[in-house]
Amino acid sequence: MTFFKIAYWLGLFVEMGVRAPLRKTWKSSVKVDSRVSATEKILLGLLSVFMFFLPLVYALTPWLDFANYTLPGWMGWAGVVILAGALFVFIRAHRDLKANWSPSLEIFQEHSLVTGGIYGLIRHPMYASQWLWVIAQILLLQNWLAGPLDLVFFIPFYFLRVRAEEKMMLDTFGESYRAYMRQTGGVLPRLR
Ligand code: SAH
Repeated sequence: MTFFKIAYWLGLFVEMGVRAPLRKTWKSSVKVDSRVSATEKILLGLLSVFMFFLPLVYALTPWLDFANYTLPGWMGWAGVVILAGALFVFIRAHRDLKANWSPSLEIFQEHSLVTGGIYGLIRHPMYASQWLWVIAQILLLQNWLAGPLDLVFFIPFYFLRVRAEEKMMLDTFGESYRAYMRQTGGVLPRLR
């Protein structure tokens, strides 16, 4: 159990480390379009509570112990494998998207449409990685508050975000993005 908690936190530190340089570039980039809705802001805030703050309370205090559950040992190990998959996709996506990354929905002055690397297979590798993450979290943090709630709030966030993001990309890149959409899957690669 302790090992699975440690694996979760190691994963989180890897993600923060990978994102840190892009966060720095993002702060200084000139934004020409920004489309963040209030609903999305609220959901993002809730997601940080369920991905970070409740797991922190769970790791450092016994306060949430009343909501613990126990899964068979192999399920925890499956969680480790899924988490590793999430990190792999996360790292690849950050390498390919580079300075076009934003924590919200934004278009930069220097924005370019990325269609290569992992983006040649799927349009939303970072969200694919997050799907894997929220599944791994249920298996690693065996507590109703620190584990599954992240998935519950990620579902509406994902659908809202993808709809708004693809609309923004179509408004900005037009036919190029439409052609790109025809060639790629959303979070799962297209068969064929
Ligand atoms: N949905 C992508 C990117 C998430 S980051 C993923 O899951 O990997 C969100 C930002 O990425 C948005 O502000 C958008 O401007 C930018 N973006 C999304 N897809 C892009 C692409 N193919 N090329 C360049 N920028 C992209």
